[in-house]
Amino acid sequence: QFDLGSLDLPDILGTIHEEVRARLGEGEVAGYIDSLAMVPLDRFGMAVVTVDGEVFEVGESRQRFSIQSISKVHTLTLALDAVGDDLWQRVDREPSGDPFNSLIQLEYEKGIPRNPFMNAGALVVADVVLSNYDDAAQALLEFMRRRSGNPAVGSDIVVARSERESGYRNVAMANFIKSYGNLENDVEAVLDFYWLQCSLSMDCVDLARSVQYLAKRGHCGVAGERVVSYELSTRINALMMTAGTYDAAGDFAFYVGLPAKSGVGGGIVAVVPHVMSLCTWYPGLDDKGNSLLGRYALHRFAQMTGLSVF
Ligand code: GLU
Repeated sequence: QFDLGSLDLPDILGTIHEEVRARLGEGEVAGYIDSLAMVPLDRFGMAVVTVDGEVFEVGESRQRFSIQSISKVHTLTLALDAVGDDLWQRVDREPSGDPFNSLIQLEYEKGIPRNPFMNAGALVVADVVLSNYDDAAQALLEFMRRRSGNPAVGSDIVVARSERESGYRNVAMANFIKSYGNLENDVEAVLDFYWLQCSLSMDCVDLARSVQYLAKRGHCGVAGERVVSYELSTRINALMMTAGTYDAAGDFAFYVGLPAKSGVGGGIVAVVPHVMSLCTWYPGLDDKGNSLLGRYALHRFAQMTGLSVF
């Protein structure tokens, strides 16, 4: 067990906050989703939740934002809980090296997405959740509320509508996968669920809590219940490490060294197994679609604490 008492977390977060404040404005918002394109670049938040439930936070850690692809961790958990290893018949576990919304490998691999965190993989995962839960949307909402301990977690209708209006690529992708027979449900139903998960609105503290089970051997301390087995939690962490930050997962492993999942809303969750879960938020993205200052903050955090899975 790592001795957290040896770290001055408020001081470390304070230093990161100061460094980041000097760089606000860098990066680009996700312009392809209208409602995300309007988020200003003048705010940053960060939260740490220890395995004992203690919270450390700085900046706009209580401001809600669009969680986007971070939700892929939670839907993957629901899908694995429902069908176990059968999931791997329909989606692979390899890093892609291509952008998150790439279609290119799908044709070579006959409709089997490269991993569950690319959009293609997340659509298949969404299909599995739809097929295995009576009311999939409710199951996901319930899951997020219990994991975060916040009963007010919900979807942002404006973002969901905006995604639908600009979702040409996702529509194409879902149809392409369906043409290979790798979606059971109607394309529209899968896309609706996918847009709902992406448009969930949560803050850094909610999100750090929502993945605490991945730091705590599959046990969610927030709701006081087991979510997945220890083994499954290690596997989800492995996928986050190899594929959680788009085609920059290699760089993330190199500079941060922690399993992480980013979203184009500017959030990144990260896990220090057996120690803590974290979330950073800054809406300006780098050229790979990861939050520019979020990534910097996690890099500095890993540097200052010496925490890394390596
Ligand atoms: N809703 C976004 C999309 O499908 C999610 C992208 C992301 O956060 O990676 O394009």
